[in-house]
Amino acid sequence: PSDQQEPGPDKKTLVVLGSGWGAVSLLKKLDTENYNVVVISPRNFFLFTPLLPSCTTGTIEHRSIMEPLRNILRHKKAAVKFYEAEATKIDHEKKVVHISDDSDIKGDISQTEVPYDMLVVAVGATNATFGIPGVREHSCFLKEVGDAQAIRKKIMDCVETATFKDQSPEEIERLLHMVVVGGGPTGVEFAGELQDFFEEDLKKWIPEITDKFHVTLVEALPNVRNTCWIPEVLGRIADNCFKVLPMFSKTLIDYTEKVFNDEKITVRTKTMVKKVTDKTIEAEVTRPDGSKSLEIMPYGLLVWATGNAIRPVVRDLMSRIPAQKNSRRGLAVNEYLVVDGTENIWALGDCSSTKYAPTAQVASQEGAFLARLFNSMAKTQILEEELNRLSELKVAASDQEEYTRLEAQVQARGKQLGRVKQMGAFEYTHQGSLAYIGSDRAVADISWLNGNFATGGGLTYLFWRSAYLSMCFSTRNRILVVVDWLKAKIFGRDVSRE
Ligand code: FAD
Ligand code: NAD
Repeated sequence: PSDQQEPGPDKKTLVVLGSGWGAVSLLKKLDTENYNVVVISPRNFFLFTPLLPSCTTGTIEHRSIMEPLRNILRHKKAAVKFYEAEATKIDHEKKVVHISDDSDIKGDISQTEVPYDMLVVAVGATNATFGIPGVREHSCFLKEVGDAQAIRKKIMDCVETATFKDQSPEEIERLLHMVVVGGGPTGVEFAGELQDFFEEDLKKWIPEITDKFHVTLVEALPNVRNTCWIPEVLGRIADNCFKVLPMFSKTLIDYTEKVFNDEKITVRTKTMVKKVTDKTIEAEVTRPDGSKSLEIMPYGLLVWATGNAIRPVVRDLMSRIPAQKNSRRGLAVNEYLVVDGTENIWALGDCSSTKYAPTAQVASQEGAFLARLFNSMAKTQILEEELNRLSELKVAASDQEEYTRLEAQVQARGKQLGRVKQMGAFEYTHQGSLAYIGSDRAVADISWLNGNFATGGGLTYLFWRSAYLSMCFSTRNRILVVVDWLKAKIFGRDVSRE
């Protein structure tokens, strides 16, 4: 709105890099009138990643889980500047960020520098490929909107090409083999969504592919990854060796086993992909006796979900700060999220290295913490200035009455300042893990009172839906997601290839 306060020259410049979970949570709670806030991100929207796997099959349209950053910023009390650009270099000595507009349309100036007094790095992470040959060239990732769109397009391309006239049986089998590499939550959720798409729509619309369409989940570890407990359960099923985790009920594990068996998703654990070509993956399989063999798996679609790697701009900054030498996962930070080796740079979310998992839950709590920290820093400054002014007035007081009044004010401000300065370090509160596992079933591990509450099934699926719906950024997002769910239920998913 036009009544937004304009930035003031007396205020510090706070630059925020990113528009994801961490940055947006910070911006939501930040009192922007205290700083000249500048946001820089190549993406001018916030993306609700938990529902991204649903966009790969058209259960949800991608725009339903995007919220324009401009809409978020226009509701702030004081104006916030936004530059759609990528930070290419952070010069922590000169206190400037080099930025580059990498979008299709560029003006006369597409590269420049932005100075900062305070900097928040919330650029997330990129996809890990471990330098495995062929991965970047031939597989799809699942991190951004464009990735989900590419997968959706490729699924249908594989199906239509498989049904092309005179296609050989081997080629049909290859084209309809959908391989997901990485048994973390991303891989598991995508595999579940894909199998749903096949069972609920593709099979009905294109019956000739019924016996050929096949989803395989490949995981290097003996168990599908235990970043959240669901894949752990899944891996145990695959290995056929149930070591019941003490925190999960046997009933729940039996239930999950049944769901995965019913879904007919093949889980290949102890299978490490070593090379990818345009039509095959080469994987090293460890047999039960410990011997290893090389296996070649033909595929039509390959989705690579092997976790996070550090973004180049972060890696570059780390390489120039000696205190970051031993950090492997991202920017090492202290308990106030200040980047080790710097004084005025904070990092949060997937680009930082903390004892917490790289999740949206952690990033958004860190963002909210930083907003409180910055709000209280600004308040501290205001109170300190006022305290100084009052103390000077007190010294110059003309009579005892004025002196006593000012003394009382100094005392009150001093106490206020003490309270504001008392802000504790960041502490994460785990609310639980939720994951969709396909065929209208979800599993949940909820932190409740002092324990854990684990549940799975159709009711949990309703819980999953309502929880994610309530977590969506805006009412607009919520309505769009509900409409998408209804559309998919009533008319089936749209199989047109855009
Ligand atoms: P992001 O949300 O990734 O945001 C990074 C931002 O930085 C983006 O706006 C990006 O455009 C911007 N950026 C990138 N490079 C630059 C640059 N050079 N300069 C400036 N800006 C830049 N977590 C959960 O807790 N629950 C879930 O259910 C869940 N589901 C997920 C499903 C999927 C498919 C994926 C991929 C992740 C999921 N996660 C989930 C993990 C969660 O999305 C991440 O942990 C979270 O997004 C991290 O937040 P962030 O702010 O650090 O990074
Ligand atoms: P991840 O790191 O959790 O899992 C990646 C998996 O890929 C690992 O199990 C690893 O062993 C495997 N892998 C690596 N290289 C391989 C190879 N060459 N061959 C075969 N397997 C290989 O990654 P993710 O699933 O993308 O998750 C990233 C983060 O996002 C995690 O913190 C996760 O908790 C979070 N997330 C959470 C949810 C949810 O809560 N529902 C959903 C998605 C992501």
